[in-house]
Amino acid sequence: MKTFDPHDVGELGAEILRAGPICDECLGRIASKLGRGLSNAERGVQIRECLSGTGIEGKAGTCWVCGDLFDRIDEWVRQAVGCVEELEFATYLFGVKLTPRLEQMEAFYEERFPSAHREPLKHSFNRMSGIAFERLLGRAVTVKFTAPQVSFVADLNTNELSMHVLSLYVYGRYCKLERGIPQTKWPCRSCRGRGCEACEFTGKQYPDSVEEIIASSLIDLAGASSACLHGAGREDIDARMLGTGRPFVLELLNPKKRSVNVTDAHLRVNEVAAGRVTVSPLTLVHRRTVAWAKELRATKKYRALVEFAEPIDAHQLKAELESLVGEIKQQTPHRVAHRRADRIRLRTVHEASGQLLDDTHADVVVHGDGGLYIKELISGDEGRTNPSLAGRLGMQAKVTDLDVLEVCSEDVDESMVLSDGLS
Ligand SMILES: [Zn+2]
Ligand SMILES: [Zn+2]
Repeated sequence: MKTFDPHDVGELGAEILRAGPICDECLGRIASKLGRGLSNAERGVQIRECLSGTGIEGKAGTCWVCGDLFDRIDEWVRQAVGCVEELEFATYLFGVKLTPRLEQMEAFYEERFPSAHREPLKHSFNRMSGIAFERLLGRAVTVKFTAPQVSFVADLNTNELSMHVLSLYVYGRYCKLERGIPQTKWPCRSCRGRGCEACEFTGKQYPDSVEEIIASSLIDLAGASSACLHGAGREDIDARMLGTGRPFVLELLNPKKRSVNVTDAHLRVNEVAAGRVTVSPLTLVHRRTVAWAKELRATKKYRALVEFAEPIDAHQLKAELESLVGEIKQQTPHRVAHRRADRIRLRTVHEASGQLLDDTHADVVVHGDGGLYIKELISGDEGRTNPSLAGRLGMQAKVTDLDVLEVCSEDVDESMVLSDGLS
């Protein structure tokens, strides 16, 4: 690439200078892609110098294109540095929201003085802000255009700087060894979360949740503002989650610290959870792992304690359970109809077996598709699930205890794992 020759844009530069007062940055932007090692302001100065002998002089005054926007970069950057004093991060990005007037002036500038070598105003402002930010910060950080750990937007309409901190995502699998714990916070039914006497002004229907139990230590370790658990499906509140556990991604919002030691975190979570919940070793993962967990269509193994209305024998139980293997039509169960669309879903039972405990009780194990409602597979839900164990036996049957024995899925693969929170 050849070095910058201001004569290449001399003609255009002259026209621009005649149009009104313009800053060196905006003048130099028309030649931004020419040459190397110069700032736009330096290019602007050279264009001006090259024209000085021709009698064309720039008019003094506020830049008619940007309103001297570049003079205020230091101010924005000082504010940005103030915001990140206690923040650990390695990547950042600056953005700007122009006023409608500035948008118009920039569009007019581009249309009236077209140049193939120009850098747009926004781009230039963001880049220059980044350079100034890195210099003032005095720590090694790099600009990143997708999913930066910290991003700023200078809003010229309100003169306010906003900052967004990328969440930190932690992957693991949890087991729930105690019944009656919801997966996520459940707002109080009486007050819908506002706080009332029924919930002792906690706003919650249940004192805690798997989410809160896992999150408390991690929020602490990362200095996060809050957390959100994204589970690969969820079990009923009264069902235990056993085996190797259910995959989840815990999102830690606004983390002050990203270099969280996940080995320590793992131990602390299990200590705090005191055997009610346990988690597998944890890893830091990419944001896209949330979508992966949400879309995971794992089959599941359940164990159900079943009570029958009349005595049955072991052969009957075995035969009718085996007859359930195959496709099941399930209309949305009564108990969830208030929150799910009423329609018929097809689910597969892959395996079903059981053992009689006495002549009216059995221990039943079912391996089925994700989304198969086990309680209804047993009870029939007044004919809404077909076939069902109750339907086959011609008597009432109901689940009195339910456990998820296994969520049959792989863990996240290497491409989703971060070597540390700062990468
Ligand atoms: Zn300007
Ligand atoms: Zn309440």
